[in-house]
Amino acid sequence: MDLRGGMDIKSHIRTIPDYPKPGIMFRDITTLFADPAALRASIDEMIWPFLKTPIDFVAGIEARGFILGGAVAHELGLGFIPIRKKGKLPAKTIGQEYSLEYGVDMIEIHADAISKGNRVLLVDDLIATGGTALAAAELIHRSGGDVVAATFVIDLPDLGGVARLNEKGIDVHTLVDFEGD
Ligand code: AMP
Repeated sequence: MDLRGGMDIKSHIRTIPDYPKPGIMFRDITTLFADPAALRASIDEMIWPFLKTPIDFVAGIEARGFILGGAVAHELGLGFIPIRKKGKLPAKTIGQEYSLEYGVDMIEIHADAISKGNRVLLVDDLIATGGTALAAAELIHRSGGDVVAATFVIDLPDLGGVARLNEKGIDVHTLVDFEGD
């Protein structure tokens, strides 16, 4: 058992086999979101390495990254920037294609969301291949910002995403891992 602040975070994550496609073990974090102590412990654990790090913004990836990223931004006293699926943001955007564990998609950021030299903490629920997070990091980079670090609740280490982000010089913090995915 991996206790975080006295809380077994992993036990609050539900696994749905063969969703959304056969062979995928979907790690459903909505059960963790619904538990007040597990949600609080997760946010606390996500932010502690960054309490003294100079950061300008928290950026969260749609959609579960909004729930976690909003809470992380609030706790760190920072503003929040949404990184959304194509076609959802109302003002001028820049976009980046990426590969998922199960498909291809595009994410976008408002073109004026980040200023040159802004230091950004990236947040999502889960890192698998790292394709989504790397696309988000690329958007932040193209906007003139620097990704200081990325923080996730779940790592699927067999898919190599953390190593990929590390190779790009991005420090990665994760709370629990599921091996064998
Ligand atoms: P990746 O780009 O491969 O790192 O995939 C990460 C993104 O896809 C995150 O936004 C996750 O929410 C979602 N995702 C990928 N694989 C899974 C999985 N096995 N269970 C739940 N969500 C997943």
